[in-house]
Amino acid sequence: MPIDRRGFVAGGVGLVASAMGAVPETQAKPAATSKPSRHRRIATEEAWSFPEHLDALAALAQGNWHNLDVEVINPAGARATEGLYVNLMDTQARLREMDRLGIDVQILSLTAPGVQLLRPDRAVALAELANDRLAAVVRSAPGRFGGLASFAPQDPAAAAREMERAVRTLGLNGFIVNSHTDNEYLDMPKFWPILEAAEALDRPLYIHPRCPADTMAAPFRGTRLQSAIWGFAVETGTHVMRMITSGVFDRFPKLQVIIGHMGENIPFHIWRSDHWFERRRAAYGSSLTPSEVMKRNILITTSGVEHGPALRYAIEVVGEDRIMWAIDYPYEVMEPSVAFMNKVEITEPQRAAIFHGNAERAFHLPQS
Ligand code: MN
Repeated sequence: MPIDRRGFVAGGVGLVASAMGAVPETQAKPAATSKPSRHRRIATEEAWSFPEHLDALAALAQGNWHNLDVEVINPAGARATEGLYVNLMDTQARLREMDRLGIDVQILSLTAPGVQLLRPDRAVALAELANDRLAAVVRSAPGRFGGLASFAPQDPAAAAREMERAVRTLGLNGFIVNSHTDNEYLDMPKFWPILEAAEALDRPLYIHPRCPADTMAAPFRGTRLQSAIWGFAVETGTHVMRMITSGVFDRFPKLQVIIGHMGENIPFHIWRSDHWFERRRAAYGSSLTPSEVMKRNILITTSGVEHGPALRYAIEVVGEDRIMWAIDYPYEVMEPSVAFMNKVEITEPQRAAIFHGNAERAFHLPQS
């Protein structure tokens, strides 16, 4: 890059240029030196898959399952030749769209619900395969992709071993889990080896949504409310509130957890959560209030939320140093997400932190 972005932003002249820079026109010259000066763009919740995984999901969809996920993930047992599934797998087409829109990096992760619906032995094996394949994708386009490692919570000891391999051998940047596993949550002691591994390896754990657990599924059945419209946030927000209030972050004080979708409703509720935590303090295991945990151990991303008031509110209550940009591709479209972050009314230091600075730090990315 011909311009030092940090110096550019610090100099203040970046304000207008970035706001106007928006999305490059398709007729713009492709050379990097001809792009308008702008913030580096790192998208942090970007779904990816590979044939063996999609085949496994298709087989589940044809089975006799009654959980809410199956009808969402693959309603017809679709194979990898259909639209969404092509977009999950085709990293060349993804790179072309990233180039067109000036997206520097995508942090890829195996699409929900990952390996969490499989039998433990199959889940362990498929997570290892997923991480090998993902590491190969990251290597295939140097500097353009990061990767979050999968693991099988069904076998916590194996999960911790795979997490260590994923960081130390494969060089992946963090971990992803899709909320509950067999209706159980990560605050339960059986899962602590997973949290211990993430903390020891100094890499963040992204808790991605899936549909509400069987144990709270009934009011969602027949409503079509089980996924992104509402149920994902209920499920995932509940999961993280269990971790926050139970004392997980006293036991693992350096653990960093990421949640998407502007914080899965937790930031909007944070005053009331603090208020009732304080009034019933003896009922909870945590020495920290929910807002103290949010500011120390939780990062949120903008995935799937292109709403200025929500972003400005999140900046006010969790801080610009704990928010990262995400698209949620291919479930969302890249271009409007870039346009939103280019134009939303926040300061340029905030835009820089959210577009790239916080992600570089959280995922240990080189700061080019
Ligand atoms: Mn997602």
